Amino acid sequence: MTLVPRALQDTELGAGCYHGVLVDPQSVALHPVKYLHGLARAAIGAGARLHETTPVTRVTRQGVGFRVIAGGKAIVARDVIACTNGYTDSVLPALQRRVVPMGSFAIATEPLGDTVAAAIIPRRRLVFDSRYDSCQFRLARDNRLVFGVRAQIIPSTPASTRRLAAILQERLLSVFPQLRGTRIEYAWSGNVDMTRDRVPHAGLVDGMHYAIGYGGHGVALATYLGMRVGECLLGKQADTPFHDLRFDPIPLYHGRPWFLPLAGVYYKWKDWVE
Ligand SMILES: Cc1cc2nc3c(=O)[nH]c(=O)nc-3n(C[C@H](O)[C@H](O)[C@H](O)COP(=O)(O)OP(=O)(O)OC[C@H]3O[C@@H](n4cnc5c(N)ncnc54)[C@H](O)[C@@H]3O)c2cc1C
Repeated sequence: MTLVPRALQDTELGAGCYHGVLVDPQSVALHPVKYLHGLARAAIGAGARLHETTPVTRVTRQGVGFRVIAGGKAIVARDVIACTNGYTDSVLPALQRRVVPMGSFAIATEPLGDTVAAAIIPRRRLVFDSRYDSCQFRLARDNRLVFGVRAQIIPSTPASTRRLAAILQERLLSVFPQLRGTRIEYAWSGNVDMTRDRVPHAGLVDGMHYAIGYGGHGVALATYLGMRVGECLLGKQADTPFHDLRFDPIPLYHGRPWFLPLAGVYYKWKDWVE
């Protein structure tokens, strides 16, 4: 990685609010929906059956396996893998007490002209800043600026997505005031999750495999851990840095994250003093 001092940073970034840039030339981006479709095709090709919009509402032990109620029907399963990430709820109470769902929000501007795009991120790199309340941005192929913020204390809903879009636009303008007047054409969001030690975890709980807790960085890690957990089902030894770490429940937490507003204020204060 290379440090670029503030005096030269406009070779990388047309944003005066930063105090230098650290460049990691090996960082890359992928289109997450295309990736998801590719994974789904690979799974179907390998013989898996996918059942979307089929919520699992109950999982209980039955003999050496499990009885799972999914879409109102009972299934007997030898193994269950819980990979419910920021959507973990009371169906899996032991995991629910260990992960806190948080919303992650993004917006995309109208396409910027070539000159504006070249002035704000000349080498078209992916950018994120080092604040706790961090923002991240990149240029899409058609020169839209995609701008997101890391986990927020409110969960993802259509209403929160609309509300956060306006807040994100203000954040975007605080980084790139030259984009005032640029239209926001898309806004979207989803839930991510945070563990107490902010590290992903995988292992066994109540006889069930799990891989969870990516803190908004799961695109590569979830695929990696998914593959390793799959190998566990085939009888291989789990061998990842994230398996069987100490994974404590969050004290006084049973699914309603009452402490998040306090944590939000604390981290905003830390950003301000640091
Ligand atoms: C706006 C945004 C930006 C992001 N940016 C990045 C990024 O730049 N880099 C990065 O690495 N990651 C990023 N992420 C995070 C990334 O999307 C996740 O880490 C990744 O999707 C985790 O994959 P997963 O399969 O573990 O969980 P998810 O993709 O969250 O899937 C969990 C699934 O479990 C299902 N589920 C939950 N409970 C049940 C139930 N009872 N029955 C049936 N199904 C259930 C849910 O419906 C969901 O489909 C971003 C996320 C968002 C929302």
